[in-house]
Amino acid sequence: MKTINQVNGILLHYARLTNHPYGTRGEQRNFVIEEHFLDVLKNALQEVFEHCPLGVPEVITTAGIFVDKPGQHGHGKAFDLDAVFWSNETLVTRNFIHQKELYLGIESFLRKHFGIVLNYYYPNHKDHWHVDTSVPVDYNETSKSETLYLQLVLKYIYKEEILVDGVWGRQTSGVVKEVFKKLGINTPITTKVNYIKFLDITGKIAFKLYEEKVSPKHLLSNLTEVIEDLPQQNRIVVREALNSFLDHEETATWLGNFEETHNLDSLIEEVTT
Ligand SMILES: [Zn+2]
Repeated sequence: MKTINQVNGILLHYARLTNHPYGTRGEQRNFVIEEHFLDVLKNALQEVFEHCPLGVPEVITTAGIFVDKPGQHGHGKAFDLDAVFWSNETLVTRNFIHQKELYLGIESFLRKHFGIVLNYYYPNHKDHWHVDTSVPVDYNETSKSETLYLQLVLKYIYKEEILVDGVWGRQTSGVVKEVFKKLGINTPITTKVNYIKFLDITGKIAFKLYEEKVSPKHLLSNLTEVIEDLPQQNRIVVREALNSFLDHEETATWLGNFEETHNLDSLIEEVTT
């Protein structure tokens, strides 16, 4: 076991306190971690931020590494990632709904290193990624967490019509075939080399989409999705207020000035050639 308070120069903070609540930078802490797992974590974060257009962050908040409970945390061999802080940008995992591209870009590269990654859609993981190495990196059709990730990127990165339910079925296998073909990756996805290639390309495309999609129109569609995710009693009043803003003539004219420039096919070509 080793005690650390940073990884690759990225400070490790804790932000689950009354005066440092979740979503803030928190305060630097010491964390106990198993040595081999630390090596994997270092390599993973190295690769994530090498590709991430925001570069190496200043701070990562973690809910814990060694935690006195059963499972991988009890051996210092699991990491809970709450949020990432760059000088001017933040990714808070609980904000998945409006930070999908950045979130899924990071997750794609994490998955190249950790056999287990539990994300926003996995029960009890809305506010952090849990990663560990208790199983090898590969794709298993019966894995709920892997199928959730797969369906999320097919839907939000590759814009396919697909149900996100964590269950591998005919719809998912059909869309996988189609998208893999477009990306020039061999099937089946259960062959490790194919899966790794998919993770790599998907991470790169997600990051490119993140870079492109800061137009007011996209930010507006993020806002709409956040509203649709609210509890019903709040949703109606916020939606109506937003609609009356959007229906205003001057708003409509202003929004008409922005074109949606994003072109998935050209991004795919850029990344795969
Ligand atoms: Zn965990």
